[in-house]
Amino acid sequence: MKIERLTLHGFKSFADRVELHFDRGISGVIGPNGSGKSNVVEAIRFVMGSRARALRAREAEALIFHGGDGRKPMPFAEVELVLRDGRERYVVSRRIDRSGDQDVRLNGKRATFRQIERVLAGTGLGKNAHALVGQGEVAGILESSPDALLERLEDAAGLRVVTLALRETRQRLERAARHLETLREQHAGRL
Ligand code: ATP
Repeated sequence: MKIERLTLHGFKSFADRVELHFDRGISGVIGPNGSGKSNVVEAIRFVMGSRARALRAREAEALIFHGGDGRKPMPFAEVELVLRDGRERYVVSRRIDRSGDQDVRLNGKRATFRQIERVLAGTGLGKNAHALVGQGEVAGILESSPDALLERLEDAAGLRVVTLALRETRQRLERAARHLETLREQHAGRL
């Protein structure tokens, strides 16, 4: 799964509609301090459902362009993310207004974050966005326990769905083996 395009409109320092295209290979976002680089990453977290539940007006206002440089505040913030997985293309969007009301869409249709999470399971871009490493998080990750680190890497690499399925299958096999053992004992008791 690759990020193809990110569109910001009214989100934090991005008053105007701005489209960022991510081509093949590695993309870097560069700019002076305070120019909005972290806001780009925060926009990805936002559209992927961080603080998914209804936002309080105060929280919503912090995310909406509050005016400056002679520009009026924006009434809403909207972020759209286009993802590609082979031939599949997913468009996820989230728009909030100053009262905290929001509109979340997957491929143009209103959706819940749970539905989006299901589509994106294992990409590392879900609600917990393990593929995103924020400033100041690096030391915490390096110091985390081996299990937590493995979980994070599996999620970022898209392997989490597979390991979860594997764990579930192992549990089912163990249950079946126990069941078989009980049946064998019952059968032996009858002989
Ligand atoms: P650094 O390199 O210092 O980490 P950065 O390029 O990552 O900086 P950001 O933290 O993304 O910068 O952006 C901070 C800027 O965003 C500040 O100038 C701040 O005033 C502006 N900003 C944050 N929220 C809003 C908002 N709601 N409306 C307008 N501007 C905002």
